[in-house]
Amino acid sequence: MARLYNYGPHRKTISRHMAKYLCFFVSGIIIISFLSAVAVYSVNFIKKAVEHTSRNSSEMLVHEYSLVSKYLYEETCSELKQFSKSREFSACKTHKQRLDWFTSHLNQKPDFFNNIGYATLDGDAITANNVNLNISDRDYFKEIVSGQKIESIHGPYVSRATGETVVIASQGVFNLDGTLQGVMFCSIKLSTLAMLTEKLDIKNDGRFFIVGDEGKFLCHYDTRYLGEKYVPTDSKFREFDSEFFFKSRRGIYETLSSENREIQVYLEAIEKTPFTCGITVDKKRMYFSYSQFKIVIIIVVIITVMLICLLTYISTLFLNMTTRHESYYDSLTNLWTRPKFEKEAQTMLDKYRGSRFVLIEMDFRGFKFINQSFGAEEANKVLVEFSKVLLDYCKKTSALCGRGYADHFYMISKIDSVNVFLEDLDDVVQSFEEALAPLELPAHPKYGITFVLPERKFYNQNKTVIDLIGEASYAKGTIKENILQTYAIYSSLMAETIEKEQRIERHMEKALDRGEFYVMYQPKISLIDDKIKGAEALVRWNSSNPKLGELSPGDFVPVFERNGFIVQLDFEVYEMVFKFLREQINLGNPVVPISVNMSRNHSNPDKFVKEFVNRFSKYDLPPELIEIEILERASEGDAYNLIRVTEKLHQYGFSVAMDDFGSGQSSLNMLNEVPIDVLKFDQNFLRRQSVKTDHQKMITTLIELGKQLNKKTLFEGVETEEQRDMLKQLNCDQVQGYFYSKPLYEKDFIQFVKQHS
Ligand code: C2E
Ligand code: CA
Ligand code: CA
Repeated sequence: MARLYNYGPHRKTISRHMAKYLCFFVSGIIIISFLSAVAVYSVNFIKKAVEHTSRNSSEMLVHEYSLVSKYLYEETCSELKQFSKSREFSACKTHKQRLDWFTSHLNQKPDFFNNIGYATLDGDAITANNVNLNISDRDYFKEIVSGQKIESIHGPYVSRATGETVVIASQGVFNLDGTLQGVMFCSIKLSTLAMLTEKLDIKNDGRFFIVGDEGKFLCHYDTRYLGEKYVPTDSKFREFDSEFFFKSRRGIYETLSSENREIQVYLEAIEKTPFTCGITVDKKRMYFSYSQFKIVIIIVVIITVMLICLLTYISTLFLNMTTRHESYYDSLTNLWTRPKFEKEAQTMLDKYRGSRFVLIEMDFRGFKFINQSFGAEEANKVLVEFSKVLLDYCKKTSALCGRGYADHFYMISKIDSVNVFLEDLDDVVQSFEEALAPLELPAHPKYGITFVLPERKFYNQNKTVIDLIGEASYAKGTIKENILQTYAIYSSLMAETIEKEQRIERHMEKALDRGEFYVMYQPKISLIDDKIKGAEALVRWNSSNPKLGELSPGDFVPVFERNGFIVQLDFEVYEMVFKFLREQINLGNPVVPISVNMSRNHSNPDKFVKEFVNRFSKYDLPPELIEIEILERASEGDAYNLIRVTEKLHQYGFSVAMDDFGSGQSSLNMLNEVPIDVLKFDQNFLRRQSVKTDHQKMITTLIELGKQLNKKTLFEGVETEEQRDMLKQLNCDQVQGYFYSKPLYEKDFIQFVKQHS
């Protein structure tokens, strides 16, 4: 039994959700990228801002310090001037007198002077602590004596008077006539300088320093470097040593501190002196706020990413919930979907095992027609209205229902007995019809019914809900066009048919290989002279399977049409016919044209004709011996195919007949368009039980129509003399029917041809 699943809508839901996920994913990536870009940009921006501010403030600071240092120097100079300008001192002629003067004036000396001294022009000097020494080699002396300067300062030196590390400032002492008499000098201990500069506070952990002669430090936060030079240990920065600073005197350099920290050094020359002052800025400290900001940004980005993940997770949960809802509930009718119905119905079957159930599958007659003629909106109204009444009914009877593909509905219910159920059935069906009536649409439901009856072997309780749906569906499929038949109940006869069909399907291919199919020929008789004018080839199957036995096309052709095997079989039949004709000609027997049937399954006219001609050409037969019977088709596309196949067959010289004309689907329009040669009227025209005169009128019209259109006319199913006479009177060209002959085995047919030609 065919188990029909339709995964179409489900797949659509999945892809829709995939799209949603993708949207989330992509927008997440976009947001994260955007945030990261903003973060990177702001971090860089802040870094630059930090650098800029630090640079500005450091430049200003070092400038301030150089000014302060200059003032200190100027102050030193003015203090020294006090001494050098003293008349008494100028009057001193010997170092002894000068020493006495120093001793008596020592209390007037500023505190930061460590020592004072005086040197004659040849460099011989006396200091306040009574040391005789010569300073002719000292720069601060030479600059004054040479007249380059009137004030000077140099250092650091190891004092020749005290042995301490000092800087020494000097001043010219002049006679009244303005000539240089000697040089007054004072020393300031580096430790005193340190005290002075200690008060200078530098932010960012920076340090202040002064480089003196040869790059030796006058001021340095690390006292070990006082009076010493500094060379960075790292080779990368080695050139930026204190001697370099001494020489360059201004600028900004990056180097390594004595504590091996990366620093920026800002230098500025102290005016009027050979000294350079500088400050250092610790880079790590400088970037401290920036790196803190960076951390904040990174944390913000991480939190945002986590939030996005969380949001995505929540949305996924939400989506899953809606997906579940969508896969459980049909969006149009809000009934359960088929998978959900199957699940719940199976649970019901399992839960109440041993009880009786009815399962119904429902759909509408010609729903496609409602859709095409009234539009999807109207068709949907039918479905919605029907689902309402169905749900109402289910609520009242504790039944379950659901909607499947298109107009398919399902219902399962526990029942007390089949009889009680059937008693109510007509009323229920009637009430459903009435509920749909206000829509004023040709909406007529049909029902396929099956049961679970534990006491009956046939309706046994071991079937799953899918088996039951299959049974109900099959039953529904047997409902005929007759509008009075609204439901069909799955029966043992149907089960046998299904079984037989399955058996047919299992054996068909082997049967073909074993040559179990054969052809019978039914003569076509001319009504003018009662002679045979042709025959129709009709296939038969003599199965080697005892359960199948001798089969007529009514048993297997519909099955082959469903599974497509008819295409293969048709060509086999054609070959049997061609072969038969060839043999008869070879034997010198009389032959008549044979018509063969073409199934509706041949959907490609070109392919069909190609294969047909391919097989035909092997037998070297005149094409006039072959006629092809084609069937009416419903749609316009089919009409095109009919025209095409007919025209192509004509090209090869074959004749074409329209089989079962008037059986329903074709329009007169089509008859006009398709250039067929023969009209084979449907057997039903002869079987209709209408008033005799009306009946005759109709047949008269049909034959006239054929003549008008220049077609040969043929009636099939002529069983009685009366029918034959009537058709003869109406000038019908040929007849085919039991009255003249049933379909005949080959050998009987050969005899028939011999006798009737
Ligand atoms: P069809 O093409 O309309 O064939 C005519 C059917 O009417 C044949 O039934 C024939 O035996 C039957 N018949 C002929 N005269 C009378 C009569 O006076 N009274 C009654 N009651 N029946 C009559 P058959 O052989 O059982 O074939 C049934 C159908 O199977 C055919 O209807 C045709 O549609 C299909 N068929 C048969 N052979 C082939 C074939 O080789 N290929 C295809 N595609 N279909 C075939
Ligand atoms: Ca036929
Ligand atoms: Ca026919």
